[in-house]
Amino acid sequence: MENTFLRAWSLWAILWLPLSLMGQSAHSNGDAAYYDGPYIFFEDGQAIARWITPEGLREKAITAGQPLEADEGVSTSFDPSYLDLQASFEPSPQVVFNGVEHIVAVSDIHGQYDLLLSLLRAHQVIDETNNWAFGEGHLVILGDIFDRGDEVTNLLWFVHKLEQQAEKANGKVHYLLGNHEVMALQGDLRYIHKKYRYTMAYMGMSYDQLFGENTYLGRWLRSKPVAISINRTAFVHAGFSEALLRKKLTFGEMNKAFQQEIIGHPEDSILADPILNLLYSDIGPIWYRGYFEDGFTLWQAKNILNNIRKRHVVVGHTSFSEIVSLFRNRIIGIDSSIKNGKNGELLLIHKKKFYRGTLNGETIRLK
Ligand code: CA
Repeated sequence: MENTFLRAWSLWAILWLPLSLMGQSAHSNGDAAYYDGPYIFFEDGQAIARWITPEGLREKAITAGQPLEADEGVSTSFDPSYLDLQASFEPSPQVVFNGVEHIVAVSDIHGQYDLLLSLLRAHQVIDETNNWAFGEGHLVILGDIFDRGDEVTNLLWFVHKLEQQAEKANGKVHYLLGNHEVMALQGDLRYIHKKYRYTMAYMGMSYDQLFGENTYLGRWLRSKPVAISINRTAFVHAGFSEALLRKKLTFGEMNKAFQQEIIGHPEDSILADPILNLLYSDIGPIWYRGYFEDGFTLWQAKNILNNIRKRHVVVGHTSFSEIVSLFRNRIIGIDSSIKNGKNGELLLIHKKKFYRGTLNGETIRLK
């Protein structure tokens, strides 16, 4: 029944999709092109790459030692030389980093690839050719690459590449899970861009299956944390609520719960467990908005920081037009509405000082 429906929907999409996209020039090369991918699946001991072009679905098995040749334009950030098909995708046990001289953090990118590149370039995190230029610095991507915008796949391959380039320079990219990563992996597709519904139709599978456990990007995403700390500053997509902190979970335990017991598990089993239920809820680390609600006090902020033994906490998730600071940088909100595709900011941390980094390369001290 479902298969018949999917097949009918695929046929419809294949026949009408190119026409319906003719009128759109939203895609980067300005013609009627629609590219997406590659998505890499591990099937029967083989790695199979599939991607979408204006002519339809393409597929190629990846042979060891031979770089995958995908069509030009399939994903401008995808570079097959960074694919590691033998990767274990084990989550990193390290969640606390110290002695980092330069930190940049950005959040809630929501498919806005070009805007992210412009911001990173304006502050020399990447160079003119979009490669790592931040040396031993750490870049924190604070969740929500997924949903809303139409360049999600491109962004994922970009972050995947940058991670390896940073590692080579003794720097680091930390990609933390936001609620939209978890939603996509759990099959909650309310916010996906229409383009990905076409991709689902072409591929004959649901969006979460494109990032399933048998996929390269899916395994990579499942290794990502929700909470880390650098130089006694905590980073988490939405925040630590007082109710969560009463459970006395370490960052490592929170990360493990998401990686092993939440993502890919049915909602019933999550909701039935009090701790998982709390982590998954709107007062959990990827949904909480309490810091920015009326009546949240300095006393509460201090209490939260004492509890996690940190000096600052940096969060995204709650949108503002610029980076905001509460209680003299104890809490910093960095979701600067990149999602609208027009403007946005980075947070820069240098020698215990915090700065807003604007799109034109300006740095403004936060106090
Ligand atoms: Ca969010």
